[in-house]
Amino acid sequence: MECAFGDVCAFGESALEVYKEMLLLYLEEGRRQINTHCADLEPWQIIGATVITTLGAVWIKGFLFQQESLRSRIKKQCFRLIRKIPFIGATIQSQLDKALDDMSASLCTLKEGMSYTKQLPAKGLSQSQVLDKIREYETLNDVEWEKGCVSGAVYWGDESLTNLLVKVYGDFAWSNPLHPDIFPGVRKMEAEVVRMACTLFNGGPNSCGTVTSGGTESILMACKSYRDMAYERGIKYPEILAPVSVHAAFDKAAHYFGMKLVHIPLDKKTMKVDVKAMKSAISKNTAMLVCSAPQFPHGIIDPVEEVAKLAVRYKIPMHVDACLGGFLIVFMTKAGFPLAPFDFRLKGVTSISADTHKYGYAPKGSSVILYSDKKYRHYQYFVAPDWQGGIYASPSIAGSRPGGIIAACWATMMHMGENGYVEATKKIVSTARKIRNEIRKINGVFVFGNPEVSVVAIGSDVFDIFRLSNALTSKGWNLNTLQYPSSIHICCTVLHTQPGVADQFINVVREQVAIIMKNPKEKTTGMGAIYGMAQSIPDRSMVSEISRGFLDCLYSTEVPKTSNSHMNGNGKAH
Ligand SMILES: *Cc1c(COP(=O)(O)O)cnc(C)c1O
Repeated sequence: MECAFGDVCAFGESALEVYKEMLLLYLEEGRRQINTHCADLEPWQIIGATVITTLGAVWIKGFLFQQESLRSRIKKQCFRLIRKIPFIGATIQSQLDKALDDMSASLCTLKEGMSYTKQLPAKGLSQSQVLDKIREYETLNDVEWEKGCVSGAVYWGDESLTNLLVKVYGDFAWSNPLHPDIFPGVRKMEAEVVRMACTLFNGGPNSCGTVTSGGTESILMACKSYRDMAYERGIKYPEILAPVSVHAAFDKAAHYFGMKLVHIPLDKKTMKVDVKAMKSAISKNTAMLVCSAPQFPHGIIDPVEEVAKLAVRYKIPMHVDACLGGFLIVFMTKAGFPLAPFDFRLKGVTSISADTHKYGYAPKGSSVILYSDKKYRHYQYFVAPDWQGGIYASPSIAGSRPGGIIAACWATMMHMGENGYVEATKKIVSTARKIRNEIRKINGVFVFGNPEVSVVAIGSDVFDIFRLSNALTSKGWNLNTLQYPSSIHICCTVLHTQPGVADQFINVVREQVAIIMKNPKEKTTGMGAIYGMAQSIPDRSMVSEISRGFLDCLYSTEVPKTSNSHMNGNGKAH
């Protein structure tokens, strides 16, 4: 080829020649050096050294690159060592023990004269005796959730619906979808619950799913399916890419199924997942992308459309977690609150979880996991073809399943109908928006992002927001406390749409914030202080330890220590 700049080209060419020669020279020199070094070695020594270096390199690679980052492992090891230092370790332990004692004292309260049953009654109680006993357990309840002073938890609890559910549960109490030949009615109901949900989320003719025991199981199933798909594609260490705001069930799935959960940061202003960060986190190990619609902490819907585009472009399955608000968002357009598309209308969305036991108003223990195509659901199934007990095939985690719960879920959906759901959605969303708008007007607090559905999260730049949570608790309001960043939220249910409830809430917040604002820098006390402290403990293993203690408390049948000491003297609890 003719070169217009002859001299330059000639120079370029000769420079290349020079580099080439230098390189050869170095190689030759290297070869010579190694050979002289090895001249005095015997062959076995050379082979031995090679083997040892190779094994060493493999070990170092294994040590450095694990599922858990080196930094996090070193940190944990440091804290472990600190706990081993005699005095410090003992002090930490006694603090932990005290925290656990306090917790069990406040959690496992008994009313006067009550005790724990630790053995079967030698002779069975009569039915009326059982019912009498039940009354006793009901008296333990202090929180009046029926009045709408609790965030989330009970989504309706209406008496006439309860009566219907009790009747339907009774009729199907002994049924089990594991035996469709014996209980064909329950099979039909489960299939119909799934189909109705698919239709609500605009699934095509190939869309499908299963009923599960709750949101967590639905999420576990989606992650399990995509993990197995990833394995099939040769991915050894499948990763879940999900917003930091995503439900902890994804942490659980990662933990159970040997996956890695990669948390994607949020846009600080909108609290929606940062799509650019999601894009740059995509790697050859990515097994699935996740969005929430909406997420639990701040009630914000992630940019599902944009993430779905990434899913299509990189051919990665995508899950939309609509566990919380699934049965609201599908009715919002009809209720007069249009939303951007979030479901199977988007090509990238391959699965959706939605809890019938939340805004579906069905009793606890039911949810649906939906797929855009049957090929995904096949990865969820478990089949043991060689079991001595017969060929065993099961769709989800449980073996036997409660047919009564599925029947009650079906009955709820049929009884509510589209009109019932649209009506409830209208009431709940307008209540939440009223709360959102009024809280925004209060000086000293702010609302996170622009919540569109049923959750409103409140924060403050001026005072510790957990002081507000203390104040609200003392006024009988039971809100959720959130961390990183510190905030509290109210999740509106049908109970909050009762006349006056939202106004009461807004007024009590306005009143309490005004009181706090008189002295914004005052120290936080009580439970609020504990939430704040729990966030600032650098050794997260300690937080885990206390949390395990909390779970132990739930199974305690011992009268807590503190009240025990009172009991020793006069034999009566305080
Ligand atoms: C409630 C919830 C879940 C799952 O919860 P379960 O308690 O297992 O039903 C998942 N994601 C979100 C956003 C939720 O709010």
